[in-house]
Amino acid sequence: MAEAKNREGGKTDIKSLTLEELKKELEIRGEKAFRAGQMYNWMHVKLARSFAEMTNLSGEFREECAERYAYTALKTVRVQESKIDGTKKYLFELADGNVVESVWMKYKHGNSVCISSQVGCRMGCRFCASTLDGLVRSLSPSEMLDQVYAITLLTGERVSNVVVMGMGEPLDNYDNLTVFLRMLTDENGLHISQRNVTVSTCGLVPEMRRLAEEGLQITLALSLHGVTDEKRGKLMPVAKRYSVDELMKACRYYFERTGRRITLEYSLVSGVNDSEEDALGLVRLVRPLGCHVNLIPVNPVAERGFVQSEPRKIRAFQNILEKNEINGTIRREMGRDIDGACGQLRRRHRSAD
Ligand code: SAH
Repeated sequence: MAEAKNREGGKTDIKSLTLEELKKELEIRGEKAFRAGQMYNWMHVKLARSFAEMTNLSGEFREECAERYAYTALKTVRVQESKIDGTKKYLFELADGNVVESVWMKYKHGNSVCISSQVGCRMGCRFCASTLDGLVRSLSPSEMLDQVYAITLLTGERVSNVVVMGMGEPLDNYDNLTVFLRMLTDENGLHISQRNVTVSTCGLVPEMRRLAEEGLQITLALSLHGVTDEKRGKLMPVAKRYSVDELMKACRYYFERTGRRITLEYSLVSGVNDSEEDALGLVRLVRPLGCHVNLIPVNPVAERGFVQSEPRKIRAFQNILEKNEINGTIRREMGRDIDGACGQLRRRHRSAD
């Protein structure tokens, strides 16, 4: 499996192997099939940080594995806790020294983790900090899983919801993402319910359609941010590749294939996309799809110069949606005091080096 090869020394990344793949891998080494089950359980249920912890496997076998395989275990470099709402933001270091951000949020209905799917991003959304220096590389399945595992170990609490809304464009890392989604929700692993997993995309139409075919019950969130190609194009270069019309067709297709309603994300930027006309445009797009809209007051990023819409404007925007029976919630700004917006913590960390 080419995807599971670790960059360093070309060693197989063992935590990215599905149970079936692990069985095959160990079979080739002459190990009994049940060893794969034991090892999978250590990695994905007991959340072992190394082979050394796997005490029901022989010492000799563990040493051999440590030699042969790359074992992903993210290192915590920084934790910031919000004094307002208890949200925690983690900066994790990968084996090659790159860093990614993940966020832990406590809600009444359970604990939610927001993970990154890439180091940096190449989509170029104008208001987003993750994309300022472009894409460094995509994350492997184990590097996405381990953000959830590390946070579970650090907080000592079970994670019930996972959102892929951190750094990166998940559908630009399609193959690793789908392996990750299957392993995260596998009954032999953490077994997080697929319905509690959300993947957010800036709107890569072919991959949205492909995802609809995967037989997964996850929620797809689309970052819309503009209701016409022109408006969207001002904020998101990807709008030049796919039109709003194509996007809406892909959303309908996703719903038809999966039965799962799309969530639309709409970040409100003062004077750019927060007028009454914009709200009415959104109503027209959303109505046939019956999807939920998350309104996000744009989080100002120093390098970008965009300004958040005034609270009065945000409420007026939401009122228009409500009057037209569109379900729209203003996203609570979790962790505003701890660089809550995508890519901000990593950026600050790097400029402090
Ligand atoms: N690449 C994916 C997921 C990452 S971003 C996507 O585009 O959906 C998660 C959400 O936060 C997206 O809707 C993104 O547009 C939004 N976002 C990024 N930076 C933001 C900022 N500074 N203020 C408000 N929303 C932001």
